[in-house]
Amino acid sequence: MKFSDILGNERAIAQLRNLIDANRLPHALLLHGEPGIPKLALARAAAQYLHCTNRTDGDSCGVCPACRQHQSLNHTDTFFSFPYYNKSKDSTKTSVCDDFIDEWREFLNTCPIEDYEKWLSLLKNENRQLRILARESNMILRKMSLSAYTSRYKVHIMWLPEKMNDDCANKLLKLIEEPYDDCKFILVSDNIKEVLGTIVSRTQRIELAKPSAQTIAQHLVDHYGIDPQDALAIAAPANGNVNQAEHMMETDNEIEEFHETFVGLMRSAYLYDTVKLKAWADEVANFKREKTRRFLKYAARQVRENFIYNLHQPTLNYLTRQEQQFSTRFAPFINERNVQTLHNEFSRADRDVQGNANARLVLFDMALTVSYLIHYAKPQTTR
Ligand SMILES: [Zn+2]
Repeated sequence: MKFSDILGNERAIAQLRNLIDANRLPHALLLHGEPGIPKLALARAAAQYLHCTNRTDGDSCGVCPACRQHQSLNHTDTFFSFPYYNKSKDSTKTSVCDDFIDEWREFLNTCPIEDYEKWLSLLKNENRQLRILARESNMILRKMSLSAYTSRYKVHIMWLPEKMNDDCANKLLKLIEEPYDDCKFILVSDNIKEVLGTIVSRTQRIELAKPSAQTIAQHLVDHYGIDPQDALAIAAPANGNVNQAEHMMETDNEIEEFHETFVGLMRSAYLYDTVKLKAWADEVANFKREKTRRFLKYAARQVRENFIYNLHQPTLNYLTRQEQQFSTRFAPFINERNVQTLHNEFSRADRDVQGNANARLVLFDMALTVSYLIHYAKPQTTR
């Protein structure tokens, strides 16, 4: 992982580069920011830069033995801790991270930007409660007490220190308070408020920002070769979460399906065709609940996008080409008389479906209201 592989966060990268170049990397660093921001990826890039023997243009070279070891996840002086579950049947010998090293390597290889949900599904752990247990801190202590093998510094990267149990956190605290000279800790947190305060206060903290919609869109164009307008329409609602944007890419049929579903609702709504509205509600209720909710969020966003479309300000609009084509005719039906109530209808339905209400009834009721609102707010002239 090189600095050039990290999306956005140029300032944090420059800060890390300067610290390492000046040999002033603190012994305990905490990278934090919301989920979906590439923080673990940045920690790996920093470790590779620290170890690289031929730094070039402010980045690791990618070809020296240290870089190659990093890239194959076999660097002898780099260690990882991460949340896991106890699979040991021996109560005196709970599991440690090394017991999950194959899954961890697969995770880092297949998921360049860390994603907790993907880690959960890779572990196939049913109860979904992952922690970092006390025995892991003993392992860290042992690894850190050995001298570095090939490099000046050993690096220990801990992903999600907020998942440490109290015993583990207290043991780690001692190590951070009285560090070995050749040890660097990089902690990577999704939620700094959940990390033990005494640990936070002993680290140097760098908060990472969400990459902009434009940065994520460019990433989608580069990696998936899609149209720039479609990329921006996918990137904008992800709100800085790269994994969410990528998830949308992986399920791109879903975007088309949601568009068709939205068009279907609006056509029947325009005609006030209650039979078709009922059939539509039944169809959407047959989605899995989470998919129904994703559709309702999509629909709420389409209401906003169509309202903005009327303002003829393309820089404010995030529509795929297909959606835009529909909007040329449909947008005038969304105006100041109904935009808020329509948006509220989709949001309310989403909440009701989340609360386990009968989806068929909720959706049919919503479809009738939408139909009324579309009729009521008919444009004076259609284009
Ligand atoms: Zn190198």
